[in-house]
Amino acid sequence: MNCTFCRLIQEGTARWVARETVACAFLPLDPLAPGHTLVVPTRHYADVFDTPPDVLAAAMALVQRVAGAMRTALGASGVNILSASGPGSEQSVPHLHFHVVPRWVDDGISTWPTGRSEHHLAGDPGDPGDPGERLAELLAQGQQHRS
Ligand SMILES: [Zn+2]
Repeated sequence: MNCTFCRLIQEGTARWVARETVACAFLPLDPLAPGHTLVVPTRHYADVFDTPPDVLAAAMALVQRVAGAMRTALGASGVNILSASGPGSEQSVPHLHFHVVPRWVDDGISTWPTGRSEHHLAGDPGDPGDPGERLAELLAQGQQHRS
């Protein structure tokens, strides 16, 4: 297994915050803030597209508990939850992970994007359609796209 996170989980060498059956949490090597934590499924799933909904739910429940612990144990006033999936998303490790970054008022960082995408949707010539309508139409059909 070449996956960095699977190796950490198998070898048990991470700085653990929580180890559970379906999801676990550990400290990254290069934290953005004191207590910055990664929450990952214990089994290997590459990204949000291939993770079963029940595993996603368990991982997000752990994200919520980690966030709560950041408020209680670290005095954080808030958190940012960051994740990336798939080409073009800047996903660094192809094992689904959620960064939970504790925030304090005036902590001097920003995790919110300031730029705007330069991508233009390729659709019908001259009329790509409204992206919200396209998404709503597909979701209403119950055909959520999985790649
Ligand atoms: Zn993995």
